[in-house]
Amino acid sequence: MQVFKFGGSSVKDANGIRNICHIINNHSDVPLVLVISAMAKTTNELEQIVNKYVEGEEPSLSSLKTFHQDVINDLFDECHPIYDEVNNLFVEIEWILEEVPSQSYAYIYDQIVSVGELLSTKIVSAYLNYIGLKNEWVDARDIIRTDNTYRNARVCWDITQQQINNRFQKGNIYLTQGFIGCTSENFTTTLGREGSDFTAAIIAHVVDAERVVIWKDVRGVLNADPRYFEDAQLINELSFQEAIELAYFGAKVIHPKTIQPLKDKKIPLYVKSFIDPNNNGTVIREIDKAVVGPCYIVMKNQMLLHISVKDLSFIVEDHLSQIFSAFAKHNVKVNVMQNTAVSFTVCIENDLRKIIPLLEELSNSYLISKQEDLILYTVRNYDQIDIASFVNSKQVFLQQKSDKTLHLVVK
Ligand code: ADP
Ligand code: ASP
Ligand code: MG
Repeated sequence: MQVFKFGGSSVKDANGIRNICHIINNHSDVPLVLVISAMAKTTNELEQIVNKYVEGEEPSLSSLKTFHQDVINDLFDECHPIYDEVNNLFVEIEWILEEVPSQSYAYIYDQIVSVGELLSTKIVSAYLNYIGLKNEWVDARDIIRTDNTYRNARVCWDITQQQINNRFQKGNIYLTQGFIGCTSENFTTTLGREGSDFTAAIIAHVVDAERVVIWKDVRGVLNADPRYFEDAQLINELSFQEAIELAYFGAKVIHPKTIQPLKDKKIPLYVKSFIDPNNNGTVIREIDKAVVGPCYIVMKNQMLLHISVKDLSFIVEDHLSQIFSAFAKHNVKVNVMQNTAVSFTVCIENDLRKIIPLLEELSNSYLISKQEDLILYTVRNYDQIDIASFVNSKQVFLQQKSDKTLHLVVK
């Protein structure tokens, strides 16, 4: 079995959907599992709708409705049942929006934002059937069981395994949603932003897939983020280990949780271009050592928090344990950390919804100062670069080197 994952940019409009259907048609040796994300920027727009709703403003669904309507107008004739299906999904959101918000932000977020993936997969599945590529639409909530950590749900592997094995049996093309799952009480969860890659890896792990292909708008994994580095080079081959490091430090091209389930079963992961599908792209697989030069990762919207004890005594293990529990409780990922005798510094993403309650909690026991609007550069294999010329005129707030990794927090 093969697993193909198509992200939001591959299905950004009707022509995008035609293009991926063409790719699927060329690889339609069954069994094949297709994992698809929400179209274009739908997830961002749904996030805005959730924010307005919980803040008591009146959110409007009209631009998302028009967008999806235009896509189906372009793909189907007007009496196709997809019109009702798409409409019914929007009605589900409208029902939620009619009530006064009474549940947690994260819970509401998952119930609304998950609809993006339901919309895109209903449309792509219907279109594949419409052009004669028979496929079975699978509700990811029937296969991916999670706990109830809304917005960052953890997979319950045993039951997920059973459900996937029961569902994907025949030699068929299956099509399901990335990013979403379901609790034992039947509430929808999401696996964290960009989590569709992880869904593909979960399924591949369970079915012992021959390979996973994630189709992107870039040639494959590059040695730098092409949005910031014009001359980024394609990496032909990467070890699982190196890919984990790159993804962990924020190389946006692969979700960090994707690699481990594949590495466990030695399932190769191909990152290929949906614009140029005949090109080889990058293969990530079990190899001892792939020759990789320096790789540059950029994370924007970072902040440094300097945490010290109120009486300026030493920071000891008890403090660190208390500080880390607060980070875990508020779901804040620490990108870099550094300590001195009296202070502990972390570089984190400036996500106000998480930071405000975190700071409230920490400021009970600690003195905190912060610096915002920073950029974190991570360079793997930095020994092959001239650091001084890379730093150039950047104002450096924190620099940290380990064996292979250089972190620079700059303005
Ligand atoms: P998807 O459509 O699957 O959601 P994303 O937009 O999340 O795809 O990821 C692809 C984007 O990741 C690329 O367009 C590119 O701008 C960015 N990117 C960041 N770092 C890298 C890298 N090292 N190699 C390739 N692409 C990268
Ligand atoms: N649609 C979700 C997001 O934009 C999941 C994904 O694309 O992987 O984060
Ligand atoms: Mg994405």
